[in-house]
Amino acid sequence: MNVIVYAIPVFVALMAAEFGISLALGRNVYRLNDAIGSLTAGILSQISGVFMLALSVGVYVLVYNHFALFQLSGGDWRVWVGALIAYDFFYYWNHRIDHEVGIFWAAHVVHHQSEAFNLSTALRQPSSGVLLGWVFYLPMAIAGVPPVVFVAVGLIDLLYQFWIHTELVGKLGWFDRVFASPSNHRVHHGVNDQYLDKNYGGILILWDRLFGTYEDEVEPPVFGVRGGLGAFDPISANLAYYRTMLDLCRRASDWRDKIRVWFKPPGWLPANLRPADPPRYDPYALVVYDPPAGRAASILASAALVVMIGATAAFLIAAPRLPLANGLGVFAALTATLWAMGALLDRRISMCETLYVFAAASASAAYALDWPLAQDVTKPLAMAVLILAVAMREGESDVKRLVLAALAASLVGDALLLWPSLFLPGLVAFLVAHGFYIAAFSRGVGFLPSRAALAAIAVFAALALAAIWPGVAPGLKVPVAIYVGVIALMAAQAAGRAIALRNGAAVLVAAGALVFMASDLTIALAKFGNVGWPADQWTLPTYYLAQGLIAFFVLPRGR
Ligand SMILES: [Zn+2]
Ligand SMILES: [Zn+2]
Repeated sequence: MNVIVYAIPVFVALMAAEFGISLALGRNVYRLNDAIGSLTAGILSQISGVFMLALSVGVYVLVYNHFALFQLSGGDWRVWVGALIAYDFFYYWNHRIDHEVGIFWAAHVVHHQSEAFNLSTALRQPSSGVLLGWVFYLPMAIAGVPPVVFVAVGLIDLLYQFWIHTELVGKLGWFDRVFASPSNHRVHHGVNDQYLDKNYGGILILWDRLFGTYEDEVEPPVFGVRGGLGAFDPISANLAYYRTMLDLCRRASDWRDKIRVWFKPPGWLPANLRPADPPRYDPYALVVYDPPAGRAASILASAALVVMIGATAAFLIAAPRLPLANGLGVFAALTATLWAMGALLDRRISMCETLYVFAAASASAAYALDWPLAQDVTKPLAMAVLILAVAMREGESDVKRLVLAALAASLVGDALLLWPSLFLPGLVAFLVAHGFYIAAFSRGVGFLPSRAALAAIAVFAALALAAIWPGVAPGLKVPVAIYVGVIALMAAQAAGRAIALRNGAAVLVAAGALVFMASDLTIALAKFGNVGWPADQWTLPTYYLAQGLIAFFVLPRGR
């Protein structure tokens, strides 16, 4: 059982206490959007960690079982103390490399993006850190530290660091020079020149004094990352520095720089992009990212946070018993919800669009967990909210009317498909929907503007049809063939439109159309192939992703 589940109420109580005390002192240290950004990143880290256990603990156990040099006893307290100190030592080096090597920073940067510094910042953890981080602790496995001791001291090291993320505790004298503490950890989170890459220690700050990375807190630290993140959703947070490195790699003119960028510290630039006279960095010029989201959005995001904290605890408890495909289905639903909470506070999506993601995620999770009643409510709800979201977009146009018609037909199709006996009428409703989509996507670019896109998609559709053909009942062969033809036309129209328009939104719409095809293929495989499970698990998440991509991006978006 995941110990973090027990820690959740303690975290919540201590954050509430910190918030209350800071209010009483007249210096509120919390901003709702920033705290939600941090907590959603922490939740994503926990729920994705469920699928990374093979790396984070599995490799350790493997190395311990085959290469341990000594047999250390988990019953000996000296082994525990030694293991904790050893873990803290390796943590120091892991954390230091996190800051000094680009590919490691790309994961760790998530912990530093908050521009506030409070207990919620402590929970702001990366989701990809484990991809490379596990390697640092293998010496403990070789030394023979039992896995259960390793996991426990790792948890102690992590949980210790919770309390040091606060501005409410000042300097603590000798303590600040022996242990990681609020004062010396504020330095670690500072972007001021003298604070960069300092105070890595997890429990002991002695490592920093030993290896020359210690810095006292003197001038007030400014928190965050240079350049800022400018988003509150955890997906943007986790991808931010990978994107930066990809971009630098693309723009570097020297091929050696294209490789170097992955290993150089953050802030390093390829030779052709380096300014001759870099300006001095002024931390106090940093403008805190704080877009006004409005009262309704704040309430909705807060309510979602409360639900998500409960859902996270439930998922961490239930995940080990869920089949993998179902677990991934619930994970996708939770992740989409976390994304929407941040995107709403960023003002990138509207209230109705947020509610669509919430309802679609609920329907997908309900399917994965086999809760038919919840599905019957959330499936029609998701489509109804999406129709409302499109209807409320500014301006009137043919495209808007056609997309609304397509969504209305989809809603009818969704309702009909709730009954297995109404498969054929459901198919007809979606045929109509795709007809409206084809009409919407041809506005301004004409019918099927790209022959190449049509040819590629036709080949794919023919192969898919051939694969499912033997399993299709004789009475359904003609309708299914017509359906495959029409959805292939719809996808080819969207792809041709993206090729003609050459903009990001059109590419996302085309991606939506292709995901739509893939989603219908999972229905076909579940119904006509011999792969009911796990193919059926992908139907709803991909369907909602497809409808969302099309409906969000087919009309021009203002920011
Ligand atoms: Zn750090
Ligand atoms: Zn920290």
